[in-house]
Amino acid sequence: MRTKLIAGNWKMYKTTAEAAAFAEAFKSLFSASKPKNEAAICAPFTQLPMLKQALADSGIGLGAQNMHFEEEGAFTGEISAAMLTEIGVDYCVIGHSERREYFAETDETVNKKLHTAFKHGIVPIFCVGEVLAQRDAGEEFSVVGCQLAKGLADLPAENVRRIVIAYEPVWAIGTGRTATPQQAQEMCAFIRGEAAKLYGEAVSQDIRIQYGGSVKPENAAEILGQPDIDGALVGGASLVPDKFLAICEG
Ligand code: 13P
Repeated sequence: MRTKLIAGNWKMYKTTAEAAAFAEAFKSLFSASKPKNEAAICAPFTQLPMLKQALADSGIGLGAQNMHFEEEGAFTGEISAAMLTEIGVDYCVIGHSERREYFAETDETVNKKLHTAFKHGIVPIFCVGEVLAQRDAGEEFSVVGCQLAKGLADLPAENVRRIVIAYEPVWAIGTGRTATPQQAQEMCAFIRGEAAKLYGEAVSQDIRIQYGGSVKPENAAEILGQPDIDGALVGGASLVPDKFLAICEG
């Protein structure tokens, strides 16, 4: 039985003071409500040590939003997996469409990062999704299938069964235009089917597949009610404690 994971992706929002205020407010809401879904916050690097302490014993997971694939080296401005495990993160978002679009992330670098994350015991939240022109051209399944095959290349099954895959149609991110629950379910079922082809049915049934793109309290329950959707990757609505909690309850 897969437990649903609601992960907040804070992107480049919140100073440490703002993040600390969020953590205090969210922690007390979370412990009072004991939502049925798991929760995690993927915060900017500079907030992670503070959040690790603030969220200790809360049951709320912690994630980074990116990492380098090399162990260490002359890579100015980058963060390694060892630096993240030292803080104690549980998750790292890898291959978000904003990183693919603005920071030259490719399926090849995503694949290397997935290997490195698993080597260090970090569970990747591996993002895939098509842009609008690809959906309009009817290419969404081939695009996502290709991202999956290249991203997962040479990863062993014992790693893949622990991965979180986030389907985020780029046209639904930050636009207020959500995929319909049917569109989201159809793609998440396709992703599980592709994983089954690559790794077998049992592994595919263990993988958690999230939907992301304008998830908010008003649409969360219907999206999370779909059989192949095992959670959500939430941008804007994860910045507000009561909105994020409502999605965790959804
Ligand atoms: P929004 O929820 O703001 O659309 O962002 C989605 C996203 O990109 C999460 O990674």
